Amino acid sequence: MKRRLQSGSHPVAPIHWGPTGGWIEVVVGSMFSGKTQELIRRLRLATIARQKVQVFNHGLDTRYSKDHIVSHDLTKVPARSVARAHDILGLVKPDTQIVGIDEVQFFDEDIVEVCETLADQGRRVIVAGLDQDYRGVPFPVTCRIMGVAEFVTKNLAVCSVCGNPANRSQRLSSTKKLIEVGTADKYEARCRACFKR
Ligand code: ADP
Ligand code: MG
Ligand code: ZN
Repeated sequence: MKRRLQSGSHPVAPIHWGPTGGWIEVVVGSMFSGKTQELIRRLRLATIARQKVQVFNHGLDTRYSKDHIVSHDLTKVPARSVARAHDILGLVKPDTQIVGIDEVQFFDEDIVEVCETLADQGRRVIVAGLDQDYRGVPFPVTCRIMGVAEFVTKNLAVCSVCGNPANRSQRLSSTKKLIEVGTADKYEARCRACFKR
């Protein structure tokens, strides 16, 4: 089963890829860095190429919609919301060529094995997620997927304070919970200099 990588998806990817055609692409960065937009762009190109696409997000991401992935500029594609990484394996249909997963940092650590299994089966797996939490500490799940992925894209946002490129997510509330779901009401993109621990 050979897969083609469409133009625009990655500048260095070959047209044909290995005996099975599967691989993993990861898009990481801070909040507001355009991870979901980039995931949606790649999924839309795949749809234009008439490839069979399935998209998943985590049930925790209730910010805009339960049955879509939605970017901060409100572009969206339909998605299935799941609670556990292994649920994805049971839901992917045999003829699905491309699997998109947003907010990967919300998933349990089995998500790494799930992405590898899907890629080993010959599917193109496109994953987006935060690389650092609100303290600036890397999310282990995202880092492990970056380690096994063929392609990694790191996006930067715009620092809300000074306008420089931003790679951190500043939490505006004082809660100490590791996961606190929110958008511009709860977080700001900040550069290294403007980020406060
Ligand atoms: P992510 O999934 O990385 O959180 P999205 O793809 O949902 O980001 O949204 C990116 C969009 O957010 C940008 O294209 C822009 O329209 C908007 N945006 C709002 N605040 C910022 C910011 N500080 N830096 C960059 N983009 C921002
Ligand atoms: Mg997003
Ligand atoms: Zn700054």
